[in-house]
Amino acid sequence: MKELEERIKKDGRVLGKDVLKVDSFLNHQVDPMLMEKMGEEFYNRFKDAGIDKILTVESSGIAPAVMTGLKFGVPVVFARKHRSVTLSDDLYTSEVYSFTKKTTNHISIAKKYLSSDDTVLIIDDFLANGQAVNGLNTIIEDAGATLAGIGIVIEKSFQKGRQMIDKAGTPIYSLARIKAFENGQVVFEPEND
Ligand code: 5GP
Repeated sequence: MKELEERIKKDGRVLGKDVLKVDSFLNHQVDPMLMEKMGEEFYNRFKDAGIDKILTVESSGIAPAVMTGLKFGVPVVFARKHRSVTLSDDLYTSEVYSFTKKTTNHISIAKKYLSSDDTVLIIDDFLANGQAVNGLNTIIEDAGATLAGIGIVIEKSFQKGRQMIDKAGTPIYSLARIKAFENGQVVFEPEND
């Protein structure tokens, strides 16, 4: 998505070897016009996949996920993060190691919001090592729901997540794919169709 790449070049800041800060339009201040266009992109890519629910993780996945849900006309469920979860019969839970915070969180979704009838599209803000996607996938499997696809706003293709998802064969669409950070600059993969 050209507009997103331009925005990353203009406003993104590379921190260290492998973190991109995009607080001005995605992770703190949110640009709703850009989010809406992202929702449209995800809709166009996955509109024939029978999606009836969007799943994400709080908090930065929520903005793009809601815009995507709006385009599909389906509900959006965000998994909640907790340091620890007192096990409850009413929750699906899984563990997620946070790449940016270097801590392990439990994520949970109430059973009443996900069932074996659901065909799910996962949306998240970043794909790094694939931990968040893995955690959501565990919950989807526990619920007996179907994972139809994964939509990522910013993929860092040089980390492990993309390869893991490709290996599993799940359809994935990333709006911006970062090949590398070189001298503090972002280098994108050639745009996918
Ligand atoms: P993963 O679970 O794929 O290892 O990492 C994805 C999660 O970590 C995303 O939900 C996002 O919150 C966070 N994350 C990973 N890499 C970055 C990054 O470079 N910048 C920001 N802002 N968040 C990131």
